[in-house]
Amino acid sequence: MNANKIAFINPSDLHPSLLSGVNAEIDRLGEDYPVLPGSRVTLEVCKTFKDDNQYHEMTGYGLTSWDSDRRAEIKITLNAKVYGAGEDSIELQRMLLGDLENQYHGSMTNPVFPLTHEYGHALERMIRNGKQPLWAKAFGPIVDYFESHGDVVQDYRMGFIFGYNVPETVPVFNTRYAAESGPEFFAETFALLHWGNEREKASTPCRLMRDLLKVVYPESAQERSS
Ligand SMILES: [Zn+2]
Repeated sequence: MNANKIAFINPSDLHPSLLSGVNAEIDRLGEDYPVLPGSRVTLEVCKTFKDDNQYHEMTGYGLTSWDSDRRAEIKITLNAKVYGAGEDSIELQRMLLGDLENQYHGSMTNPVFPLTHEYGHALERMIRNGKQPLWAKAFGPIVDYFESHGDVVQDYRMGFIFGYNVPETVPVFNTRYAAESGPEFFAETFALLHWGNEREKASTPCRLMRDLLKVVYPESAQERSS
C-alpha cells in the first residue's frame, strides 16, 4: 500500500456508486498533496466514531480525528448513514441540495467534496506536526485574517442561526461553514481549490491557501488543475 496516500480501510462498506469517485480523489490527493513523512491517514466508512475512548453516533458527512498521544495517526470517517453501502443515496442527495440552497458549503455539491474537506483537516494537522515554523508562517496570515474579522464571524453565525441571508457585504468567507472556526475555514478553503467555482477559486482565502501549499509541496501539480 502506498504510504503517501490515504489508506481506505473498508471500501466495500462505501455505497458502490461512489467508489470510483472516492478512489480517484484519494489518488489525486496522494499525488498532489501526499501524506507527510511520519504521518498516516486512514479513511473509514462508519456509523460511529471514537473520541475520549467513547463511541459517538456520526452526524453530517464526516469528520477527522487523530491520536491524542502521537497526533500522527489521522483518521477520516465518512458517515455510513449517508455514504454506506446499505443506504439508498437519497439522504446524501438531500443534504447536498439543502446545503447548496443556503450556500453552507458555497457552490460545492459533488458528493466527494466532504472527503477533500476532511483531508484539509488532516493536512493542517500534518503541517502543524511536522513543519511548525512553516505552519505558523504560512497559516498565520489566514489565522490573522480570521481573527481580525471576529465580529463578522459573529454576525455571520447569528444570521445563519436565524435563517436570514447574509448581506453581500461579507466577502471574507466563501462558504457559511468556513465561518465556524479557523480549522473549518482551512478545510473549506482547501476543498474549494478543487470543487469550488471560478469565483471561489479566485478569492483571497484560496490565494493564501495556494501560497501555503506551494511552500509545503514545491513539486506539486496543483497549479496544473487550478
Ligand atoms: Zn470540518
